[in-house]
Amino acid sequence: MLKFIRKCQKKEDKNKYELDLEITSAAEKLWCLQVQKESFKEEYSLLQRGKNIQKNSRLYRLSAFMKNGLICVRGRTEYSPEISQEVKQPIILDNKHLYTKLLVMDYHKKYIHAGTQLILNEIRQRYWIIYARKAILNVINSCNACKIR
Ligand SMILES: [Zn+2]
Repeated sequence: MLKFIRKCQKKEDKNKYELDLEITSAAEKLWCLQVQKESFKEEYSLLQRGKNIQKNSRLYRLSAFMKNGLICVRGRTEYSPEISQEVKQPIILDNKHLYTKLLVMDYHKKYIHAGTQLILNEIRQRYWIIYARKAILNVINSCNACKIR
């Protein structure tokens, strides 16, 4: 991580927005990695060794695979040329993990206390949350600002 930041700092001509974006995405990647190692320990280790996920896994039906050290989903839009690689192969996150809940809350607030469908659409641009709809609904229901309205 530090090495990465130093690398970014060297590129002085790069504008601040780009730099922020790079650091944010590197930090995000580390968080996702942490979530996956905690929530899908066995699956992570199997995929890392090029093996198949066990049938009783929550990831079994997702055609999950390892990409840049993270477990991703091979989506239905895989062969569509107009859609970016991130949307085609979103990173899998555990609906029960605290980070996922915080991430959903972040989206919820970013889109001015948006409802389930909008958050789902936005999150799917990058992430595949297990039982996403339910996870998002739980977060919305826990939002204090929404309770008051
Ligand atoms: Zn809210």
